[in-house]
Amino acid sequence: MQAVTHMAFGAALAVVLTPRRDEAQPRWRAGRIAAAVVAAALSHPLLDDLARATYHPPNAQLHDPFWLGFHALVAVATVAFAWRFRRHGWFMAASLLPDLDWVIGRPLGLWSEGSAHAAFRAIPGLSSVSEALRGVVPDLRGGRSGALLELGLVALLLAIVWRVGESRLDAERGADEGCVPEPIP
Ligand SMILES: [Zn+2]
Repeated sequence: MQAVTHMAFGAALAVVLTPRRDEAQPRWRAGRIAAAVVAAALSHPLLDDLARATYHPPNAQLHDPFWLGFHALVAVATVAFAWRFRRHGWFMAASLLPDLDWVIGRPLGLWSEGSAHAAFRAIPGLSSVSEALRGVVPDLRGGRSGALLELGLVALLLAIVWRVGESRLDAERGADEGCVPEPIP
């Protein structure tokens, strides 16, 4: 999947799984946040398996206006999403962890290509889910309609992050205001 899709999934896990500031017992709070960060990292290879049904030509198509336009849109969306939801930065970073393959591993020749993705897929339990997904998800990577599918998924995740995130913030603000002692007349 594109980076923005992974980041949106990580941010969605953050707003759905982590406790609000005002609701959780402190001893559970750190555990739930850690679980959401781990879930964000583990989601990466599974989303990549689903990416077989989305627009992912194997090589850059620099002469194709559609390829260029789609990737320009994705690049802008990635920066905008990262900035707007930067408070979920740790979850978004975790969701991109295996892509160190492409930003550090390959350019610097530090490890063999795809090793980080392979390491995540080797995690017990995850490998069988990944294998099952790859068995049923059709390979549509060359088809342009797959671009719409991925943009639709990003829109859905954005709606979750926005709506759930805003309602959490409202609740937290309300709780904070409720803590302010009434002024003495
Ligand atoms: Zn990946």
